[in-house]
Amino acid sequence: MTTNHSTPANLDDLRGSLEDHSSALPEPFPLDVGGELREPSRWVENLDPATSGVLATVASATPQEMDDAVAAARAAAPAWAATAPQERGRLLRRLGDLVRRDADVLARLETRDTGKPLAQGRADITAAARYFDYYGSIIEGFLGDSIPLGPGSLAVVEHEPHGVTGHVVPWNYPAQITARSVGAALAVGNASVIKPADEAPLVALSYARLAREAGFPAGVFNVLPGGAEAGSALTAHPDVAHVSFTGSVATGRAVAGACAQRGRPVLLELGGKSAHIVLEGADVNRAAPVIARALLLHAGQTCTAGTRVIVHESLHQQLVAALAPFFNEAKLGLGLTDPTVGPVVTENQATRVAGFVERARAAGAVVAGEAQAPHGLTGFFVAPVLFDQVGQDSELFAEEVFGPLLAVTTVGSDAEAIAAAHNTRYGLTAAVWCQDIDRALRTARSLEVGQTYINGYAPGGGVELPFGGTRDSGYGREKGVEALREYSRTRTLFVDIAGA
Ligand code: NAD
Repeated sequence: MTTNHSTPANLDDLRGSLEDHSSALPEPFPLDVGGELREPSRWVENLDPATSGVLATVASATPQEMDDAVAAARAAAPAWAATAPQERGRLLRRLGDLVRRDADVLARLETRDTGKPLAQGRADITAAARYFDYYGSIIEGFLGDSIPLGPGSLAVVEHEPHGVTGHVVPWNYPAQITARSVGAALAVGNASVIKPADEAPLVALSYARLAREAGFPAGVFNVLPGGAEAGSALTAHPDVAHVSFTGSVATGRAVAGACAQRGRPVLLELGGKSAHIVLEGADVNRAAPVIARALLLHAGQTCTAGTRVIVHESLHQQLVAALAPFFNEAKLGLGLTDPTVGPVVTENQATRVAGFVERARAAGAVVAGEAQAPHGLTGFFVAPVLFDQVGQDSELFAEEVFGPLLAVTTVGSDAEAIAAAHNTRYGLTAAVWCQDIDRALRTARSLEVGQTYINGYAPGGGVELPFGGTRDSGYGREKGVEALREYSRTRTLFVDIAGA
């Protein structure tokens, strides 16, 4: 199966299957390698988590196919690196325009593929287009440096791409995570091989079609869905010069090991157990809706989801009372009907989350709010639960659930709140809620996490804000200008000036 390089993406053909959750997509989604659609040697069924029915037939790459894609990227990399930043930026901005043109179809695809409510699918596509715009714009201002060593020399520092970059993407926010990572990598002149998860690959594959339409050279934007086998073939490949991995801690460590074996850099965006710290003097009515919505927006399957609330005892009752209605009244439903909460991504994930609920109840955690289980739905639904008086020694306090469960824990001082926030192996994000800005800032600065919000919470999006973890949440930074540094390396040129 090959496609002419200028073939329009024709995502509109999918529209008829994206009005509701009743039908599968009309055509299979093959691999996208070397600027062409390529028939794979293996197909898998991709499920709609809202119904558990088949959504699409999708390629699942083998190691040999991954090898072919790396070869295609390697062949394309020198010419792409030599392309003027102005032209690379133009193509990325054009891709952003095409994502906006097809935003409705892409948002519906993301919603059916991942289960999230359509409003969130739309927000993800808006953010994705912004990543392509942003990196397509700022690349022209990504300046090198000169170092003053005196009149007898000239020392210049330039940025250059790594070569072939590998991008392993999880199933929860594939539209945003693919765009943020590949947008930055392509802007600085790398050729990319992207491996979305088998569970939710459709939007990343659609970007490859749009990239072809935008005019990207063949081999620069390769997308091959697959599972662990394809992921490890990519991340262990000797010709992949830099790896960006977003996913779980366990897999991230395996990927980091594979990169260490061949001495290549890796960026790890891993899990989280982020805390909302609600200090004395917080505006509870301002905090509660933000805390609840940030958790529920993708059924808790957001790496930055603030899943722990650490609240001063003076505000505890008021905060729990303000949070409870968001849980009691949450409506579960099919993503395209824009419910408060959609399904979780797979049956396995639903079973895993249900296990946390059962064990927390058995351990005596207090249920302060709970949504009704949905009736008559066949998808992978888990009712959101607000747990109160969660002990710091409990599993619910320590482990990432990736489901719509919120754990409230009470403390007696700012110092206790900070200690509780750190009482987990993760360090991704945190929020501090307090109207006394000095106190809020002191607390925020003492937290060992990659991003801290004060009196707000911004999971997802945040195109301009450097993002990444500390401790078990990973290292390296996506987003913002930082990502351009991540996806490039410096080369120093020194000139000895005779006679100066
Ligand atoms: P996962 O680690 O199972 O899978 C992530 C990706 O890695 C998938 O594409 C998968 O196919 C691939 N993979 C699996 N085994 C591999 C291997 N041996 N080698 C290479 N690739 C392999 O994670 P998941 O369950 O899909 O995603 C959820 C996790 O991702 C959560 O822990 C969540 O917090 C994290 N996450 C982090 C961020 C962030 O930016 N920090 C964003 C989203 C999700």
